[in-house]
Amino acid sequence: MMEPSNEAAAAALDAARDFAARHVVDAAASFELERRYPAELVPLAGKAGLLGLMAPVEDGGRGLGLGDTAMVAQVLAAADMGLAFSLKVHANFSASLARVGSPDQRKRYLADMLAGRRIGAFLLTEPDVGSDATSITTSARRTASGWVLSGEKAWITNGVAAGLMQVFAQTDPAQGWRGIASFLVEGDAPGVERLPAYGLLGGYGAGVCGIRLNDVAVGEDALFLAPGEAFKGAMRGINIARVGVAAMCCGMMESSLDHALGAVAGRSAFGQPIGDFQGVQWMLADASTDLEATRLLTRAAAAAFDAGQDAVVACAHAKKFAARAAGKAISDCMQVMGARGIRLDDGHPLARHLAAARLTHWLDGATEIQNVVIARALMRPRRVAP
Ligand SMILES: Cc1cc2nc3c(=O)[nH]c(=O)nc-3n(C[C@H](O)[C@H](O)[C@H](O)COP(=O)(O)OP(=O)(O)OC[C@H]3O[C@@H](n4cnc5c(N)ncnc54)[C@H](O)[C@@H]3O)c2cc1C
Repeated sequence: MMEPSNEAAAAALDAARDFAARHVVDAAASFELERRYPAELVPLAGKAGLLGLMAPVEDGGRGLGLGDTAMVAQVLAAADMGLAFSLKVHANFSASLARVGSPDQRKRYLADMLAGRRIGAFLLTEPDVGSDATSITTSARRTASGWVLSGEKAWITNGVAAGLMQVFAQTDPAQGWRGIASFLVEGDAPGVERLPAYGLLGGYGAGVCGIRLNDVAVGEDALFLAPGEAFKGAMRGINIARVGVAAMCCGMMESSLDHALGAVAGRSAFGQPIGDFQGVQWMLADASTDLEATRLLTRAAAAAFDAGQDAVVACAHAKKFAARAAGKAISDCMQVMGARGIRLDDGHPLARHLAAARLTHWLDGATEIQNVVIARALMRPRRVAP
């Protein structure tokens, strides 16, 4: 994608390559075939320093910017997008815990999060509320000693094994988004009910499930982001995550292209190598162009964010383009491999990548919501020239 910006970033990238080669590439098909979340890999990712990429060095993280963490996401997603997303959700949560957690919250949870002894999850979406996240109905009621949380969350990455959850809940429906707060809830707190894992082709590595909160009582010290701050915090996190998703699409496209090039070099039809047919070459050329374009948009969005700009539109452009490009490019790479391209159990990741590319159309905001963001910026009232 681009060069790491410093030695710490280069070390993180090496660690990601080593982690993927040793623990993910060969195992990933089994996540799908056995429908399992590989929770055992999270502490190994912690050992490799992949769980605190954006957390400050003084807290035990790597202190990287968004561009460098995007490169790590690309490497991990080339091996398995579901697991890459799981680790990204966790690492983003660790970074915000380090940044805005109270001294007590940081002391209680940060070391365990960075080591992967607790797995982090972000609980915003609900069964009846996705894109329109200001309308969540999970409630937070004040009590004498803290809060009681009630409601149901859906589509929770890492939910099946989460040890620490950031739960978004409404404290006062009359306040709309300003009433939403977030709370830190331990995975085994009384009243936390995990629903069965989702059947999710291309996404078993993300451990997605629903979570019901049955009057979960938490203390005052569980408040993570106060009403008025939580929704803004969620949107900031989602913005960062969109760049990560775009980078993951780059990883899946690059890996698909590599496998397709290998496959067409090694097979013949009608008396000539398949790779000599111009129709095949052009599909691969188009996939390569889409990969280049996605890389550039991803890099631009990350650079804008790292330069301190809000980068909301750049992140939306990158994520929208990446999801669309990945679906087409991976599908074309699969096509030139012949029918073996669709197999989950043939030693290549294309079927997983193709299914995961579909998932990216909803991760961190539907593709249409990226268009809402882009169109809103386009349609902003302009100053009319005198
Ligand atoms: C693999 C995976 C992991 C996820 N992990 C998490 C997680 O960890 N935590 C979490 O909180 N959520 C998570 N999500 C949920 C994700 O954020 C939502 O799926 C997403 O926000 C879209 O919401 P929805 O699926 O409810 O779609 P809806 O909001 O019901 O929308 C349905 C469709 O309507 C269209 N649409 C909606 N609004 C508009 C509009 N304004 N203009 C035009 N079209 C529109 C879009 O086509 C959209 O796909 C995850 C999702 C997936 C697929």
